[in-house]
Amino acid sequence: MRPVVFLDRDGTLNEEIGYIHDVSMLNLISGAAESVAKLNQANIATVLVSNQTGAARGFYGEEHIGKLNDRLVSLLEARGAHLDAIYYCPHLETGKVPALSIKCDCRKPEPGLVKRAYADIPGLDRSRSYVVGDKASDIELAKNCGAKAILVKTGYGQAVTDGRYQWKVEPDYTANNIIDAVNWILKDLEKQNSAGLQSGASGS
Ligand SMILES: [Mg+2]
Ligand SMILES: [Zn+2]
Repeated sequence: MRPVVFLDRDGTLNEEIGYIHDVSMLNLISGAAESVAKLNQANIATVLVSNQTGAARGFYGEEHIGKLNDRLVSLLEARGAHLDAIYYCPHLETGKVPALSIKCDCRKPEPGLVKRAYADIPGLDRSRSYVVGDKASDIELAKNCGAKAILVKTGYGQAVTDGRYQWKVEPDYTANNIIDAVNWILKDLEKQNSAGLQSGASGS
């Protein structure tokens, strides 16, 4: 069984710049690829879970969301990092495009995207799962799927921490950025590992 990190996209892996109409405007936060690569090397699954309402709002077609994700993947791969899977919610109940303007079970903090990942990908260890994101809805997603919650201060994260955006949350850890978040996760897993080894030894 592999630990799994559910990663938000905007403001967590790439710079938060609002709705991205021009694909070339999607750019990685410094250190994001190296951080994902660290998870890859530690055999930890990396799964993107992202709310993308631009299509539902009529800003662009749903295929544009795929192009943005392709751009993200190619930027990551150029630096030796990969995502095990990508899921996004294109829905918004109050959107303009009827087909996407529904109340769904996958818009974070609803756990639909995470549930899909567990159904699709074998061998993910729910007891060693993490959500990393810059919004209160990411932190609430973690609570809703039994994962540890890490709020990054990039993107909207600082505003969430200050109580200026969304609502107040209590993450398991507040990280300066994705680099800090991944280092915390690796340490947390190590701690669990050595605790497991110790209890194994005392039980024998
Ligand atoms: Mg975000
Ligand atoms: Zn949805």
